[in-house]
Amino acid sequence: MKDNIISLKIEDVSARVFAVNSKEAVVRMQQVHNSSYTSTAAAGRVLSAAAMMSMALKSEKDKLSIQIKSDGPIKGIVAVVNSAGEIKIDIHQPDIYLPLKANGKLDVSSAVGKGTLTVVRDLGLKNPYVGTVDIVSGEIAEDFTYYFATSEQTPSVVALGVLLGENDDIKASGGYMIQLMPGCPDDVVKYLEDKISTAKSVTSMLEKDMAPMEMIKAIFPEKKIELIDSKNLEYKCDCSRDRFWDGLAMIKKEDVEKMIFEDGGAEVVCHFCNTKYSFTVEELKKIMEKSKKQA
Ligand SMILES: [Zn+2]
Repeated sequence: MKDNIISLKIEDVSARVFAVNSKEAVVRMQQVHNSSYTSTAAAGRVLSAAAMMSMALKSEKDKLSIQIKSDGPIKGIVAVVNSAGEIKIDIHQPDIYLPLKANGKLDVSSAVGKGTLTVVRDLGLKNPYVGTVDIVSGEIAEDFTYYFATSEQTPSVVALGVLLGENDDIKASGGYMIQLMPGCPDDVVKYLEDKISTAKSVTSMLEKDMAPMEMIKAIFPEKKIELIDSKNLEYKCDCSRDRFWDGLAMIKKEDVEKMIFEDGGAEVVCHFCNTKYSFTVEELKKIMEKSKKQA
């Protein structure tokens, strides 16, 4: 089953509903970063949330970034997704090992710790829309729920899960998100609360290999569910040598000089896909010349 993100309408419920299957993207993320089980679970949840939020991006150049900066061993996670559903992830410390919690679950909250969650929506306007909240749980889903409630005044339910096998292979990954529309009647809010509180956990639904649509249908069996939009999701980095060239032109002259005279060249690594780009002394000299002209 290919990864996909869908948005849905539940009959008589004024809410935006999204669901995602992100297994292949998380498999790729794990390969790129060689991430441990706890890091994979934490970053995989962020990946699924970012993927669902990307459904609001409409123009080709629109971009959404999620930045988690924290004091836990993972240090930080960055997700960047575009309107085509192409997503890339940076895990600051992918190689961390934490014991499982007493209940046998992955200890994502200890891996993340305290810090901030920032959402940047770049919609091609002069200034991007930026919202930051404190990390309240570190379990990721709760942190997004808190973000939507406080930063966007949108009461939401966010459920995210990454299911790992015995050898840390990805069995499943995905989730769903339900966001109340402004003025949602109290009886509908009550109905949603009841449904969510009695719903099976997202992990157990993923365990049963349920597709995104099936998860929502399982929570609201008596309702008609309508598919509004669907998009493929793919782990894909858009880095290029040219981009890193431009990046080198932005850094301090002393640092480029150090690369030329001490290091004898530069090798830069993309944090999102681990591609290495080498620059020779000659190229670095050209970069310095160019940035001198611009200065
Ligand atoms: Zn890259």
